[in-house]
Amino acid sequence: MRLAKVSALSFDLDDTLWPFGPSVARAEAMLRAWLIEHAPDTASILPTQQTMSELREEYERSRPDLTNDFRALRLGSIRLALARANADVALADPAYEVFYAARNRVEFYDDALPALAWLSARFPLIAVTNGNADLRLTGGGEFFRETLSARAFGIAKPEPEIFHAAAQALSVSPAELLHVGDDYHLDIVGALNAGLQAAWVVRDPQPEVARATQHPASAHLTLSDLSMLCRALGGPDKLP
Ligand SMILES: [Mg+2]
Repeated sequence: MRLAKVSALSFDLDDTLWPFGPSVARAEAMLRAWLIEHAPDTASILPTQQTMSELREEYERSRPDLTNDFRALRLGSIRLALARANADVALADPAYEVFYAARNRVEFYDDALPALAWLSARFPLIAVTNGNADLRLTGGGEFFRETLSARAFGIAKPEPEIFHAAAQALSVSPAELLHVGDDYHLDIVGALNAGLQAAWVVRDPQPEVARATQHPASAHLTLSDLSMLCRALGGPDKLP
């Protein structure tokens, strides 16, 4: 598909602007260290780093109603660890703050901030995320008019409502909004179903790419980095 007129852009955050895995791994390590310091009996409940994510997954399986609420899932899994250690579950709140601050300490991909600077000087930008990153804490918030989070909005990607709300927030038609994201199903299929244009960020080509190209819904652009996005929108070969 060719790109049509673009009047505004919406961006996914995790794994589109920064790699998500390293910041969560760091945040879980800090959370575990904090718990063991403040509630030493959790050491036996959390013998390895791996148990942090296992506990969260266990809690998520018990609370399918919380699937898109990452804060509630993390907080619940911290309470579970504290309860199993017979420790004070009230420690869950300050523990979550430690986790959340670390989770927002992200390292942007090298191309992300220069591209956002170039794009935001030419187009209104909005963040559309199912995650719980806060652009005021990660940095980069100055490039965005606003953030639409699934948790606050109540409807997550790939549902069309959240994409339509993004277009409305920037006063453009869905057809003139280009959504940029890494997740083929949530970002690309979701945006296309909502009548948006879609740019798929594939930094690390995997078999997924081959699979998705068989799919009838194909992105308007496939990008290995965000400087390609700027070039596709009339930008220079090399960003400052
Ligand atoms: Mg993503």
